[in-house]
Amino acid sequence: MLLGALEGGGTKMVCAIGDETGAVHEQLSIPTETPDITIPRLLEYFRKFPIEALGIASFGPVDLNPASPTYGYITTTPKLAWANYDFMGVFKRELQIPIGFDTDVNGSALGEQTFGCMKGVDCGIYLTVGTGVGMGVIANGKLLHGMLHPEGGHVLLARHPEDTFPGKCPFHPNCIESLASGPAIEARWGKKAIELKDDAKVWDLEAYYLAQAIVNYIVILSPQKIVLGGGVMHQTQLFPLIRAKVKELLNGYLHTKEIEDIDHYIVPASLNDDQGIMGCLQLAVLAKG
Ligand code: ADP
Ligand code: ZN
Repeated sequence: MLLGALEGGGTKMVCAIGDETGAVHEQLSIPTETPDITIPRLLEYFRKFPIEALGIASFGPVDLNPASPTYGYITTTPKLAWANYDFMGVFKRELQIPIGFDTDVNGSALGEQTFGCMKGVDCGIYLTVGTGVGMGVIANGKLLHGMLHPEGGHVLLARHPEDTFPGKCPFHPNCIESLASGPAIEARWGKKAIELKDDAKVWDLEAYYLAQAIVNYIVILSPQKIVLGGGVMHQTQLFPLIRAKVKELLNGYLHTKEIEDIDHYIVPASLNDDQGIMGCLQLAVLAKG
């Protein structure tokens, strides 16, 4: 079955053609400009293929409530050209095929659950640490939406006593996105994260914050697996630092086989950075029914 996949990001849109096995047959990336410019290019791409359904995982916030009059809209984004934009509806009207729609990070969580390291996991978390910090959640086998959708990138943290960096999130000086996103690292230390590879204090502080957020997710959601992706997590030296700090912060409170085997509990994304687009293929499968 030929399926379309669209990962809608704030800087680029990745569109792909694939199938229900998660195989990506071809893909194209185009810059995210205004809807007037970008949407016709996306439609032109998908019209070239006889796809049976399309899965879209979008930057947000987005409205995921099927009963809402603005279901499928991007809502209050600071990217004003896309605010209150009917992102799902335009494809539904123009392509006349079933459309699956969710957040970008829920898409990646679904990709890992269907094709990657969260296979068989009933309750799991996918966290991206990149330009922003975002969290996708599988709860009882399904993507969690709730009131809106999880916004775990904005969980509030205790600051390191020596960290005077004002923070990058316009809403919260002490949220995880504010303190630990790629742009936060760059603004705090004056260099791009990748150029700071060998500077141990950068990664100790990064792990200090990521571990706090992860402990909060663990005690609230009881995930069986925590997958960390996004550009910053390419610094693989972070993994042992984060795992050690998570154990330290839990302080012996939880005894589960997962936490005893923490190297297989807190893990890198497993699909070669294709978890997002593969998740979109699965969103299309689910939409087709
Ligand atoms: P986005 O979040 O925009 O989808 P990414 O997940 O690639 O894209 O995140 C981009 C951020 O990650 C930037 O702030 C960049 O500095 C940082 N980044 C990208 N690659 C690396 C790397 N190899 N090591 C550390 N930081 C990285
Ligand atoms: Zn915030």
